[in-house]
Amino acid sequence: MAVLVMGHMNPDTDSIISAIAVADLKNKLGVQAKPVAQDEVTPESAFVLEKFGLSAPEVVTSVAGQQVILVDTSDTAQLPDDLGDAEIVGIVDHHKLGSVTTANPLEIWTWPVGCACTVIEAMYKFHGIEIPKGIAGAMLCAILSDTVIFKSVTCTDQDKAACDNLAKIAGVGDITALGMEMFKVKSAVEGTPIRELVFRDYKDFDMSGNKVGIGQLEVVDLDILAPYKDALYEDIGKVKGEKGAMGIFLMLTDIIKEGTEMLYVADDNSVLKNAFGVDPGEKSVWLDGVMSRKKQVVPNFEKAFG
Ligand code: MG
Ligand code: MG
Ligand code: MG
Repeated sequence: MAVLVMGHMNPDTDSIISAIAVADLKNKLGVQAKPVAQDEVTPESAFVLEKFGLSAPEVVTSVAGQQVILVDTSDTAQLPDDLGDAEIVGIVDHHKLGSVTTANPLEIWTWPVGCACTVIEAMYKFHGIEIPKGIAGAMLCAILSDTVIFKSVTCTDQDKAACDNLAKIAGVGDITALGMEMFKVKSAVEGTPIRELVFRDYKDFDMSGNKVGIGQLEVVDLDILAPYKDALYEDIGKVKGEKGAMGIFLMLTDIIKEGTEMLYVADDNSVLKNAFGVDPGEKSVWLDGVMSRKKQVVPNFEKAFG
């Protein structure tokens, strides 16, 4: 039975492409592996898959009795409910270590870099295995997506070096132009149901016993989202009720202005003051320079809730 390679819920491009790349590498190393995803791909990922001739992974939401390699997460809140009945044989990630634990020894590759695909580029090198052209192009896009074209505070020199190598393999001349093309696809929200936008890049967290949801929409110009803000605000209020959460936060990130307007519905608005040192408005707050949920939002909230 093939080992399933799986990323987080509401998969982003890194979760999708990391699953494909790690499965490719494992298969070439003689371990039968299959990329899967917990949901359908986003328009951004669909663009990347199409551009580099790859197929979307099969959707799998139950893993009981299977062997699993986790990519782009190690947090049980972002993995199938029956993960406890699966065997985790590997983790390839670039987030803080999550809540998983294992019965057996496992292979772990987790680095403090901007994207799991940066780690995977090094794994191919370590094993002396050539990265297929299409997978290299898609990995390049995943790194550009996670690092917001190298602008995010999460971006490291290793990410940039990996991109240079991947661009060479994929035959991509202008890395920034490819990144902008992808973010323009990501910015297109017209005609998308509001709930789909709220959950497009959304994660649940447990912060000192408080259930907290944080979503993010990254666009090339916040004006694109102006007509949808009221509906988004109303919907995160509904999500809060449905999930019984302490707060739902939606980051509307402008990748050109390099900042985030955070919409929020929370039991106690003082968490925003405690987390960011700003006086929150009634429904939203502008956070200059904030683009990374992982590095600039989650740690601040964990302190504020702690
Ligand atoms: Mg991710
Ligand atoms: Mg990632
Ligand atoms: Mg991201």
